[in-house]
Amino acid sequence: MKSSLLFLLLFSGCEGYELGDSLFGPRWDLSKRIYITLSDHMPKPQLVRAATIQAINQAGGTVTEDPKADQKIEIVDTDDGPCPLPYKLAFTITPVDGVIHLCRTNLINIPYTQNSLTDVLFHELGHELSNRGKHIGGEDLVLNYVDCKSHAVMSSSTDCHPGVTAYTSEDIDYICSTGNTINGICPP
Ligand SMILES: [Zn+2]
Repeated sequence: MKSSLLFLLLFSGCEGYELGDSLFGPRWDLSKRIYITLSDHMPKPQLVRAATIQAINQAGGTVTEDPKADQKIEIVDTDDGPCPLPYKLAFTITPVDGVIHLCRTNLINIPYTQNSLTDVLFHELGHELSNRGKHIGGEDLVLNYVDCKSHAVMSSSTDCHPGVTAYTSEDIDYICSTGNTINGICPP
């Protein structure tokens, strides 16, 4: 316990990110399979499921059909929380709880392809795996690729990282340095 606390304090000094809450060990082990659940009335459920699987695979994880699996990720549709904000597509609450929220009205109205929805879920999965809520490159809403301060997956806008199917080295540092995830993209 003492060494992990020291580890977290070291990281708090040199980064602008929020601290992960990983004093009790990693929450996610990407070498173990993940079971996906969708909320009951999820719009476009097949697309959401396929995009979630693709995002988990891109993170070096695998999924299972076994509902008794230890690791579960829950995709929930909602219009609550920050969803009424302009351009808000999805959110994840920290400390993370295995739940990714997709903004329902946008999910219905935006003509998502599997790849464009995977962009959104890959980003949210990065919050879940890292247990961090802030973004690489800051929180400004940027809608024009050339104005983006970062093109990392964990930058604030999906318009800054369209079609990026692997976390950048910056993303991997952001995700893995909290100790919330092991294996997959976070080598032991
Ligand atoms: Zn985000």
